[in-house]
Amino acid sequence: MSDKKVTELFGSMVFNEDVMRQRLSSQSYKAWKKCVTDGTPLELSTAHEIANAMKDWAIEKGATHYTHWFQPMTGVTAEKHDSFISPEDSSRVLMQFSGKELVRGEPDASSFPSGGLRATFEARGYTAWDPTAFAFIKDGSLCIPTIFCSYSGQALDKKTPLLRSMDELSRQAVRVLRLFGNTGVKKVISQVGPEQEYFLIDKDVFNKREDLILTGRTLFGAKPPKGQELEDHYFGTIKPRIAAYMRELDEELWKLGILAKTKHNEVAPAQHELAPIYSDANTACDHNQLTMEIMKKVAGRHNMVCLLHEKPFAGVNGSGKHNNWSLSTDTGMNLFRPGSTPSQNAQFLLFLSAFIKGVDEYQDILRCSVANPGNDHRLGAQEAPPAILSIFLGDELTAVMDSIIQGTEYVEHGKNNLSIGVDALPYIPQDTTDRNRTSPLAFTGNKFEFRSLGSSQSITGPNVALNTIMAEELQQFADILEKADDFNAALHDLIRDTLRDHQRIIFNGNGYEDAWVKEAEKRGLSNLSCTADALKTYLQPKHIELFSKHNVFTEEELAARNEIHLENYCEVIGIEARTMIDMVNRSLFPAVSEFSGTVASTIAAKKSVLSDLDCTMEEELLRKLHRLMAQMVKRSEDLGHALTNTGFADAYEAAHYYKYTIFAAMEELRKVVDELETITSAEYWPYPSYTDLLFSIK
Ligand code: ADP
Ligand code: MG
Repeated sequence: MSDKKVTELFGSMVFNEDVMRQRLSSQSYKAWKKCVTDGTPLELSTAHEIANAMKDWAIEKGATHYTHWFQPMTGVTAEKHDSFISPEDSSRVLMQFSGKELVRGEPDASSFPSGGLRATFEARGYTAWDPTAFAFIKDGSLCIPTIFCSYSGQALDKKTPLLRSMDELSRQAVRVLRLFGNTGVKKVISQVGPEQEYFLIDKDVFNKREDLILTGRTLFGAKPPKGQELEDHYFGTIKPRIAAYMRELDEELWKLGILAKTKHNEVAPAQHELAPIYSDANTACDHNQLTMEIMKKVAGRHNMVCLLHEKPFAGVNGSGKHNNWSLSTDTGMNLFRPGSTPSQNAQFLLFLSAFIKGVDEYQDILRCSVANPGNDHRLGAQEAPPAILSIFLGDELTAVMDSIIQGTEYVEHGKNNLSIGVDALPYIPQDTTDRNRTSPLAFTGNKFEFRSLGSSQSITGPNVALNTIMAEELQQFADILEKADDFNAALHDLIRDTLRDHQRIIFNGNGYEDAWVKEAEKRGLSNLSCTADALKTYLQPKHIELFSKHNVFTEEELAARNEIHLENYCEVIGIEARTMIDMVNRSLFPAVSEFSGTVASTIAAKKSVLSDLDCTMEEELLRKLHRLMAQMVKRSEDLGHALTNTGFADAYEAAHYYKYTIFAAMEELRKVVDELETITSAEYWPYPSYTDLLFSIK
């Protein structure tokens, strides 16, 4: 594809600002722009004009339908398509789309999880247009990004709290910037660049694995002779079939205005990564949802399946997402970029201190924001950051921090002296690039990289948490500094005291080592090793206070989300357990039984020819098969029995049970089945092996 083609293709399916400028009256265009920048509501007549322009544009591009596109708490997106047709008379139709239809929709939404927020007598929710996100065309439908709320205004989706948190963060950050004499900034916007990992396998092998079809991960599978030991896949040459997929994926994403930028092979065989160029958090979240959807769709066209599960295969790395996060002003200043003047540096240090304090104080909610059953396989398993939250600052910035705390001189390369105060602040290294891959939250020069996210999860939750925590700390800082008689002195003390009180959250060492777990415990840091444990902290008064104070979640909304997470956790593990039992009963047992029969017949046949033949090897194999089969049946029955338990005092007890009883029983069952796989003839084994799966793309 030529350069020209790429530039023409980019955003061609998006009703973006350019299209609006061309197709709307200047009055309506300005009204929309003001709505986006200042949050002023749109008149219905303007909405009507926008709707009409959207419809005409969409029809020219071949669309026949429109849909409100939203992100319910399932973590995936939802859509319900209506055609534009409207009867003109008994034999003709017109294509219509009104302002009212653009602004508000009423999906029959009674089946989306609401965590008890919608009483059955009022099952309806409504969707409302988010004018800050662009509409786009996908599969012949005009998709309108919307929020999804109950009739009483409670959030039933992932976008509403994100927008609320972005607003609040902006408000508090602007207060702080004013104190530094910055009067031009109207808005501060969180910026997000999510790197997305995924696996690609051949569809024919996928279709033979009941576990992959039903749960997205392999529940059985003996370790293959070759895994990721040679590290020959990471950044390796991309195979032609994968390259063709990536090319088409890029094109599809570009059409939707998604800034797909980097693509490469990852550590595990069959694993890859895609990173977009960062954008505002709202767009980044929409785009990441679309990216995941389109990754799967395009894979289908190439007779492949894209696995987004956090741990599709045991024994090789699973997939995560790195959420690169920073704050930028509407004037284009990155607030996490160390400045070149002392005043800019003081401002940088204040934002940095706010972040450090926030992460230290709200470790648990950050941990909760990345908790899901899939991610339980990764966090702390030497392939992803530990479940303990900490911040990597790098040696140089840590040295700056230490000298601020101790009030000592900071000497960098023997030439830069440190003294605190806006007039004479430290030289702050601009190239603090991070090469520590084990930290959950790494400062990488001008942004933080939150590395604990699971590959399948919506990135809204972690960003809502980051934004709200930051809003809280900036509010506290602004409250103190606005009252100060001597701003510079107050600023100096605030930075020093904050860094001193929260330095335990800084850790620059190897997060995969056991020594860190012990050290973190000494420092009093949280170590919530699994979702069941993490979610126990979700409804702490401190969290309720945080989110309700900043109007991000009411207590009710938070409780509803907690209930959904806990239920989902038990359901996912329950489905996995039942799938295992089904695989044992209907495929694995019959297959191993048949193979045993063959071994037995072979022994009998050999002995019938030569009665004194020593068949010890086959006999031992038969005995071993028999013993393992008995264990398999017993463990599968035990698991089935454990699943019948329903008497739980509350959802926490249920989650705990699913983790420590059901999941533990699944692990036991897997062990014996995987051992059977290693001694059963491949011809008889009913499922493609790990070698077949991981090396399915030639
Ligand atoms: P790495 O693999 O070293 O982490 P990548 O280049 O793959 O780096 O990904 C970095 C991601 O961070 C990209 O999505 C990029 O757009 C994003 N990013 C860069 N600068 C910022 C920033 N200021 N704020 C948010 N995200 C950013
Ligand atoms: Mg990264």
